[in-house]
Amino acid sequence: MHEARTTCPYCGVGCGVTACVDNDEIVEVQGDPEHPANFGRLCVKGSALHETLGHHGRLTRPIVDGVETDWATALETVAKRLTEVREAQGPKALAAYLSGQLLTEDYYVANKLFKGFLGTPHLDTNSRLCMASAVAAYKRAFGADAVPCRYEDIEEAEVVVLVGSNLAWNHPVLYQRLRTAKQRNPLLRVVVIDPRVTDTCEIADLYLGVKPGSDARLFNGLLAWMAERDRLDRVYLERHTKGFEEALAAAREGDGSLEAIAADCDLDPERLETFFYWFASHLHVVTLYSQGINQSSSGTDKCNAIINCHLAGGKLGVPGAGPFSITGQPNAMGGREVGGLANQLAAHMDYDTPGARDRVARFWATDGLTPELPQGPGHKAIELFEAIERGEVQALWIMATNPAVSLPEANRVRAALEACPLVIVSECMADTDLLRYADIVLPASSWSEKDGTVTNSERCISRQRGLLPPPGEARHDWWIITEVARRLGFGEAFAYAHPGEIFDEHARLSGFENAGDTPDEGRRLFDISGLAGLDRAAYDALAPIQWPVTAAAPRGTPRLFEDARFATPDGRARLVPVRPRGPEQVLSEARPLRLNTGRVRDQWHTMTRTARSPRLMNHRAEPFIEIAPEDAQAYGVDDQQLARLVGAGGGEYRGRVRLSKGQRRGEVFVPMHWSDRFSGAARMGGLLAAHLDPVSGQPESKHGAVGLEPL
Ligand code: SF4
Repeated sequence: MHEARTTCPYCGVGCGVTACVDNDEIVEVQGDPEHPANFGRLCVKGSALHETLGHHGRLTRPIVDGVETDWATALETVAKRLTEVREAQGPKALAAYLSGQLLTEDYYVANKLFKGFLGTPHLDTNSRLCMASAVAAYKRAFGADAVPCRYEDIEEAEVVVLVGSNLAWNHPVLYQRLRTAKQRNPLLRVVVIDPRVTDTCEIADLYLGVKPGSDARLFNGLLAWMAERDRLDRVYLERHTKGFEEALAAAREGDGSLEAIAADCDLDPERLETFFYWFASHLHVVTLYSQGINQSSSGTDKCNAIINCHLAGGKLGVPGAGPFSITGQPNAMGGREVGGLANQLAAHMDYDTPGARDRVARFWATDGLTPELPQGPGHKAIELFEAIERGEVQALWIMATNPAVSLPEANRVRAALEACPLVIVSECMADTDLLRYADIVLPASSWSEKDGTVTNSERCISRQRGLLPPPGEARHDWWIITEVARRLGFGEAFAYAHPGEIFDEHARLSGFENAGDTPDEGRRLFDISGLAGLDRAAYDALAPIQWPVTAAAPRGTPRLFEDARFATPDGRARLVPVRPRGPEQVLSEARPLRLNTGRVRDQWHTMTRTARSPRLMNHRAEPFIEIAPEDAQAYGVDDQQLARLVGAGGGEYRGRVRLSKGQRRGEVFVPMHWSDRFSGAARMGGLLAAHLDPVSGQPESKHGAVGLEPL
């Protein structure tokens, strides 16, 4: 028996895990006492990790056209069919759809193959559904997709604002840290802004049951309130920002009275003013926001409305302060780092980053190979499936995600997959809703088998270590991609023997031609060149570290913007004028209820792993529809009765009614996890229409419109 350190594969907190390994089995897991994300804590999901393992139900052999085969045949077939589509239709007929579950090394080689050598820009990820609006807003405000805070800031704050985040269920260890901080410091105030009363409210000093979609109006109101009461940091605004007057003018449009803002947000004016006063009168304020803000057709604006308030009060770059986006997935951040979004190129460089295309092409070139990088961005997730539907994209490689369940208008997505001439799926499990659409299935390794790195919500890079051999012929994603690249003739550029070599290349690319003190001189914020050149032993032993990691900051950078210099050409942050917009999915006579969606505490995504633990299934064993008792009565349904929701996404959702006094009137909540595999018809994606944020391309998953009827 031996102990090994790794990282939890679930949420964006990124907790360190110590696993007890005995004879190729993990018999126990505990929180790693030395990992800076959790210092020994784990939540229920994390502590049940060893209960979800085992070879039962795993994919163990490649499958081509429904027939099991060997790897050589499968890899040759993938390469041959991708080549045929590329030659017949051009590079833009190829696409990849990745996942925040992949490790950074997997992401890196996939991005390099598709954008660098196959020449298609169409590589996107399910992280588009999770945090794309937060990314876009950080870029608009700071000139870079850069989370300014670290977790300790939450503990050092005087006020913590949780908006659009059920932290207690979705980032439980961060919630535990906040709860402990509050016990230690009773003066720490917690504000929860959420349409639903959730378990997170247990530690709230102030709860604002905001009307869905009105967050931008609320934070615009806060900005105007701060200006009127002279609660701005004028010196900070003057020296370090631009755009304040324009942002304030937008915030002041319409009726700016407290009563009018409260009415628009459906809040009590006194409680609203208490929040404004607490926010404005403390320097050390952290605003934590998550999918409740991001999953909106105006998610980027909502994020910027929050950031505007922090900039206006100088509440960032100091301990216990900052606008802090918490990612949903374990490696949504790592995917962003390698360029795993369709609007990115590589290493946090976009297509419009000066010199980026040439720089990346030169870096990826070998003696015999010249990369052919696309000229501009590709299709973001929803647009990608629309392009498949139109027949423009003819070959799609999906890795570690299940768009047949999770995307809005899921039935349309399924039809697009059905019609797509070539669908390749890399997957761990033998039974998912997606596999029926796959022409080629590639068995992938899973958590506890995979070896590489992930980056959590506070920019902390951690090792996820391979502790067990994969079952049967399952292989690591980076290996599969690399072997296909070799068969496509790009072997020279993909000559990796170990994920440590990929990480080294990724680290070198982040620092390649990244000199100077300002962005004008070529400085890019994402730089981990200080981690380049690690040998195998050093990579294996890599301790958690927050980027940037450079020669000047060899121990990493816990907090950004302490010097108030931002990654914009002039070094100043930008306040963005925000004009609030309501949800695009409109209520109607047939669909009069506002639909909210989200996770439950003990499940993860489409439950392929967590459903294997009876302990985790005990928490919520079946799909449900949460509704206010008054609405239940009006719609003729009782607690525990089966009911049906119908939505604009072309599908329906059947679940058991749960009466909840914490649910606002006129609204329902359903969990996102269930699919055809576990229930006849409880796919959240079938209820939602595909309305997107125009800047980030993130779908409006929090604001559906549905009808309800008893079964
Ligand atoms: Fe895993 Fe998140 Fe729980 Fe930590 S909080 S143990 S990362 S699921």
